[in-house]
Amino acid sequence: MSEQRRLAVIVVRNDSSTPQPNMAEVMDLVLFSPSSIARYFKESAEDYFQLARVDFFGPYDVTLPMAPSSRDVGIEAARNAAVGAGVDLGPYDGTVVFAFPGTGYDGGAYGSAAFLPATSDFTFFCHEVGHVLGLDHSYGIFTTGADWIDNNQPDYFPVYGDPYDLMSSATFGDANPTTARPAADVPAAHPSWGSAPPHIARALLHHQKPAALEDKGRVVHVSESQDVTTTLYPVGTATDGKPELVVFHPTGEDGAGHGRVYVEYRQPFDHNAYSRWDEGLADTDQPGARDRCGVIVHTIVDQPGVTPGPVVWYAGRIVFPTPDTDVAVDTPLGQVHVGVTQEFGQTTRPGFVRVRVRRHSAPSVTVRTTSMDTTSVIRTERRPHPGWEWAGDFTWETRETVRETTYTPVTVGIGGTSPIDAESSVVVSWFVGGTQVFGPSPSIPLTLPDGRVVTLEATLHPTTRVLTLSNHPADGDIDVSVVARASAADGSGEVFATSAYSVQARTSGWGSDWDRFMDFWYRITHPVPRERIGPPDPGDPLARFDPLAEVARQQLERVREAYAELVRVSPAVSENVRSVMADQERMLQPQRLRSVDVQRRVG
Ligand SMILES: [Zn+2]
Repeated sequence: MSEQRRLAVIVVRNDSSTPQPNMAEVMDLVLFSPSSIARYFKESAEDYFQLARVDFFGPYDVTLPMAPSSRDVGIEAARNAAVGAGVDLGPYDGTVVFAFPGTGYDGGAYGSAAFLPATSDFTFFCHEVGHVLGLDHSYGIFTTGADWIDNNQPDYFPVYGDPYDLMSSATFGDANPTTARPAADVPAAHPSWGSAPPHIARALLHHQKPAALEDKGRVVHVSESQDVTTTLYPVGTATDGKPELVVFHPTGEDGAGHGRVYVEYRQPFDHNAYSRWDEGLADTDQPGARDRCGVIVHTIVDQPGVTPGPVVWYAGRIVFPTPDTDVAVDTPLGQVHVGVTQEFGQTTRPGFVRVRVRRHSAPSVTVRTTSMDTTSVIRTERRPHPGWEWAGDFTWETRETVRETTYTPVTVGIGGTSPIDAESSVVVSWFVGGTQVFGPSPSIPLTLPDGRVVTLEATLHPTTRVLTLSNHPADGDIDVSVVARASAADGSGEVFATSAYSVQARTSGWGSDWDRFMDFWYRITHPVPRERIGPPDPGDPLARFDPLAEVARQQLERVREAYAELVRVSPAVSENVRSVMADQERMLQPQRLRSVDVQRRVG
């Protein structure tokens, strides 16, 4: 199913001292450029709105009352100008007026029409055309974006409070999710046409035009009685079999959807062609911060004074990477927890996420550790190996190890109640050997139980709270506890996870010459040919296959390889065992094997 739309685009000039509007530029803006308004809706609304007919009329000169005047007056003036020029507006179910320059006039939608000052921006154009197509506002974070009381006091309203939805333009809950259209699509005379909006939130699209997503199989419905984990793909994936929206239906949800929870995964720009309208989730000014992926959550609530029915309400998010894998969401039917499975929390740009919506979520923190050793030889001496004195001296090494261990925390069921828009309200602290870690890269002095004083070097990431520790080998062996403490910002929900940092800093052992020698010896004493992988090699069909000769050939090759390695690492030892190698060459040479073979047959 889709909705067929026939739009009349009327271009007017309200100030005859300004240049004539350029119709080709308006046509590109609406229809033809690769980032046109029509393209935005095609890509963000799953092709649901079929623009069966879009015709352009004008430019006409019109006289408007003094600015700002209301938008319906401008729409009426434009329609009259078109009709006066002989246009039949009967076939169209929507009217979009571009006013040049339109400066200072009240722009916006009015019923199935919109009055758009050409000096406004592309994000605004898409928002108002969204109204013409039948979309209503989204809600959430209280902002001053709608100061309708106009009393010079900041008045806070939840409308326009969704940071990630076109229908909260241009306030977006005081976030800044807009991006830029390609420069080639933006006329030099209209730089404001360069701004681009975020996607239409899947939540809003589904709430207001469910068929747009249902007909394409983009929705997974989960009821409260099920405890399921669902795979969710980025908004704009637009691929069959890849859902872009999870709808959680609480027990007791009514026909209007009160208390329903929507979950979607937003990923900026370059992963999929269609996800290009999204600019990343974080709204801090840190470099690159707007490039982050995440899960966003909406619920359906009543908003007094808004008709008809309940509205789509932005309720929180999970921004990757983060230790905090879930967000608590207040709904008219109580609190629910929306989370991703643990493996996704600390990833940067997952191709998909696994989502779970639950009524209750027990607080916990878990820590994944990985270690990397850098070992260096600080001293060598040559000594005979007991029992192998005849082979000569081998290297005895004294080694030092620097072990870098990384501790990655993942929390569940802590903090993050909507509508707080912080990335996370979870606090993760670390204690190494009982000492708390502060700052991004501290040195941590520790007194061990045996009285030794050692120092560990740490790094602690400010947002992911990933800790790394490394040792100074001269300090000797270390084995200390590493404890993660996680809680909400107010200290509630405190949980702990205990791990350890352990390193053998000073070790000794035989060097690589001994390893190579043992390998050589092993190949002599274990003459087993390597397994051949794959089907038998037919070889030369005329040659008679001699299995015994083939085994010997492979064995000789293996021993020669090992000997060559031994020569490389220890010329002295290889010289001492040269006679052993010579024996192998003699025993395994093909001519000798054939004669053995013959003798056996004769015998
Ligand atoms: Zn609006």
